[in-house]
Amino acid sequence: MEKQNTSININEIPEVTTVKMGFVDSYIIKGQVNAKGENSWILVDCGIYGSEGKILRTLKSLGGKPEKVSLIILTHAHQDHSGAVKELQRITGAKVAIQREDAEYLVKGISAKVTPVTDFAKLMARLIKSRPQNKKGGITPDIIIENELDINEYGVNGKIMSTPGHTKGSVSVFLNSGNCIIGDILGKTLGKVTGGMFCNDLEENRKSIGKIIGSNATNLYLSHGGKCTINEVKKVFSP
Ligand SMILES: [Zn+2]
Repeated sequence: MEKQNTSININEIPEVTTVKMGFVDSYIIKGQVNAKGENSWILVDCGIYGSEGKILRTLKSLGGKPEKVSLIILTHAHQDHSGAVKELQRITGAKVAIQREDAEYLVKGISAKVTPVTDFAKLMARLIKSRPQNKKGGITPDIIIENELDINEYGVNGKIMSTPGHTKGSVSVFLNSGNCIIGDILGKTLGKVTGGMFCNDLEENRKSIGKIIGSNATNLYLSHGGKCTINEVKKVFSP
């Protein structure tokens, strides 16, 4: 029998945990605890190719088990977010969800178009390209997100909503608590919130930032640059 880690009190684990992986972060969401005292987990993004070990070690440190992962959400199909999805899908057996517009890239095992807007972004794009790419081919997503997907059935109170612009199929994860994981909709430059460093469509991205400002979100989790509050975003983007 597997030894239980009794030193972890699940109630003390935060709803959202950051998995720091160098230049990109992924996130682990803690689900509700059921009557048996068990809870499920949702992974948001999978880092670059080869990141599964780091993500699963972090999950374990929270008291989670791979087989308790109910859902893997990809905020979009860039390789620094979807690189380890094939391995994580295999190991956890969880369903993988992605928005329709980015799904074809996942199937092909390639990155959605990366469109740098600023000089710094062009540098970053080269960095991303130089990282290991998914060499093992694509996967078939289990869930295709259209405009919105309720994630309550996966043990987490919240929903996924389309927030296009960075890529056509970018989504954000809005939790009822006010925590919101937004992928690459916003970035940070010298500690200041920015938008559109990489953008397929700047206007669409601006609309998506408006959608986030108009939502219940209070704490935003970025893929590059850590966290920010909704007030920091309003200061930069409110008319
Ligand atoms: Zn991206």
